[in-house]
Order: sequence, then structure tokens, then C-alpha cells
Amino acid sequence: MKFSERILSVKPSPTLAVTALANSLKAQGIDVIGFGSGEPDFDTPRFIKDAAIRAIESGKTKYTPAGGIPELKEAIAMKFKRDNNLEYSNSEVTVNCGGKHSFYNLMQVLLNGGDEVIIPAPYWVSYPPMVLLAGGNPVIIDTTDEKGFKITPDQLNSAITKRTRAVLINSPSNPTGATYTRAELEALAEILEKKDLLIISDDIYEFILYENRSFYNLAMLSDSLKRKTLVLNGVSKTYSMTGWRIGYIAGDEEIIKKVEILQSQSTSNPSSISQWASVAALTGDQRIVDDMIDAFVRRRKLIVDGLNAIPGIQCINPEGSFYAFPNVQDLYRSKSWESVEKKYGAENRSGTLAAYLLEEANVAVVPGIGFGSDNYIRLSFATSDENITEGIKRIAGAVEKLR
Ligand code: PLP
Repeated sequence: MKFSERILSVKPSPTLAVTALANSLKAQGIDVIGFGSGEPDFDTPRFIKDAAIRAIESGKTKYTPAGGIPELKEAIAMKFKRDNNLEYSNSEVTVNCGGKHSFYNLMQVLLNGGDEVIIPAPYWVSYPPMVLLAGGNPVIIDTTDEKGFKITPDQLNSAITKRTRAVLINSPSNPTGATYTRAELEALAEILEKKDLLIISDDIYEFILYENRSFYNLAMLSDSLKRKTLVLNGVSKTYSMTGWRIGYIAGDEEIIKKVEILQSQSTSNPSSISQWASVAALTGDQRIVDDMIDAFVRRRKLIVDGLNAIPGIQCINPEGSFYAFPNVQDLYRSKSWESVEKKYGAENRSGTLAAYLLEEANVAVVPGIGFGSDNYIRLSFATSDENITEGIKRIAGAVEKLR
């Protein structure tokens, strides 16, 4: 079969693949502990579901404007004012079918062949494929746990070329949890202010922060940066609404208009029912998020302490989001590693380790290679305390056998 070069340039999302594999093993009766999932394990709050039911019952079940209902755009503009002190009009806001779709749309409307998008690694698995699908070139800046997984102004400066169209900042980060402080963003801003490029700020984990950290994005630092920045956000992670598929972008009106043209000729509007539910989520009582954070604070400690107690694994504390991203490269030097590679393949080491842990310990983790860093694995702690305790115990047992 002949396929487009575009689709042949991308691989399936490894995070979704791990979750699907863990679920299929569970369906076969195998007791797998899944650390793959990128979604909160809480139910969508009752008042949000009620808003969706009301929307269905009152006939709000038809096409809407491609870029979203005015009520949702107003709620999003209100959210930016309330939470970030940023002012946007409705024409500077568009609603998409999830934050993933928001980024995809942006790449489609912004990039021409060979345009570059700077992406700090470790990165969310979907950024480079979406750049490639739009004909662009992902330019990766590597970071490590030693530097807190954050890029430096010098690294940023040397990655910028004449072809740079946009720089992406995802803070708090999936997969590392790295969260830029205001001062760290200001240091990057000094360079970005002088350059003719766009900034994409993926703020999807804005509210999942630890140790009283405050949230900042580059648009919040100055009017000129705000004009260059497209802020991407959504309801998936904050309100436990991953299945509802609502994401949004705020920024330059002309770019927003182009995204809506693309959407009018591709997906049309995001689900009308999900849009009404999102109005309720954004305008309702925000204290619902606090309960979720309390659980994540507890689980973060459980998983990070548990991982660090295993010889050969080092895990820094994520500053935000709900992922632990431990460094496992010492395990690649263990006595039995060669035999593990013989059994599970040696294409990439984090994939080999993940396959070993799945088979040996019935624990599903995501290989770091999909995030651009083969020395790590990702474990989501959006799962119960019991699962975390049991999962860590199993990993410790499997790692012990490697020595
Ligand atoms: N951005 C990041 C960094 C993510 O981790 C995700 C989801 O995993 C998204 C965006 C998109 O989420 P959604 O499409 O559910 O809004």
C-alpha cells in the first residue's frame, strides 16, 4: 500500500500505546499496574456533568461556530483575566478538539516546508510529530535532570536560526514536571524579545503545581511578549475532562482566524455538549482543583521516595504536572543488562527496560525515548496510592534481579 510521506514520518503515540497494552493485558486477567496514563484518575466533577446533561436536554446538540460558542470564548477570556491577568477579546480566542488539536492546528497554519520549531527535550511525545506533519523541522534542545530539565538562555540563543518560526515552552512539563519560575522565564525573555519569532506556551498543567509554586508564562511578562505568544490550554487535566476533548488557544487575532478557517474545513466545531460543560468548568467553583492537588501531593512523595529507594534509579522532584521521570541509566550498566537486551531487543534501552518491567513485574511505564531522552522512563502518578506502593515494590524486585 502506498502512503503519504507525511504519515510515514510519524510513529504512534507511545503513551497511548502503553496504556492500550496495559489495558489489554488487564482484560486477559493479568494483574498489571499501569503508570502509563496521562490523565487524572478522578471523575469529572458533578456540576460539569450536569451542565452537559442540561445542554443535551435543552437541544444544544447542533453545529456551533467552528471556533466555539461565544459563551465559551467569553469564559476562556474571563479565565485568562482571573488566573493570568491577561486580556483577550473573543476574536483572540479559539476552541479546539483538545489541546493536542490546538497545537496541531497551530503547526498547520504557521509552518512552511523547512520552518523550524524549537522544542526543549524531554518533550511531550506529540510535539515533534505534529511539526513534521506540517512539513516543519523540530529543533531539539536537550536538558537533563542535573539542570532541572530546563533550558538556559545560551542554549535557546544558539538554537535560533533564520528558519525559526516558533519556540515552544511547556511549563509545568510533561514528562519532567519542570516548571519555570518568573526569573527563569525573564532570562529567556531577554532573548525572545529581540527575535522575530512566535512563542507557543503550552500551559495545560497550569494548576498542577507543588510546594506553593506560582504559575507564570511568557505572555504574562510584557505586552510585547504577549503579542508574540500563543497560549495553549484546555480543560483535560485541570478538571479531569480528558475524554471531552476541549482545548483552546489565545493570541494574535489573524492567527486565530486562520485556525478557525482550518477547523471549518476539517473537524468543524468541537462537540457542542463538551463546550457547554467547559463553560461550567471554567466559570464554576475552582476549589474542585484543590482536592485533586492534595491527592497528587501525597502520591508525588510516595512515588519519588519509592523510586529513589531503588538502587540504580534517581528521580528529581517534579515541580508540577503528575509525572515522575526517573533517570535509569545506571540500570543499563547492570550485570544482567546484556541478557535483558537479548530477550527484549536492543533498539533503545528505555524501551527494553519498559518491556522487561512489563514482563517481569507486570508494571507498565513509558520509555523515555518517546520523550527524546533514552536515559529515563516516565511514570504517571495519576493512579491510586495502593497502585503506586505495589508498583514500586514490583519494580524494586525486578531491578534487584538485574544486579
Ligand atoms: N500538552 C501536553 C504537554 C500534554 O501532556 C497534553 C496531554 O497529554 C496535551 C497538551 C493535550 O491534552 P488534550 O488534548 O487532552 O487537551
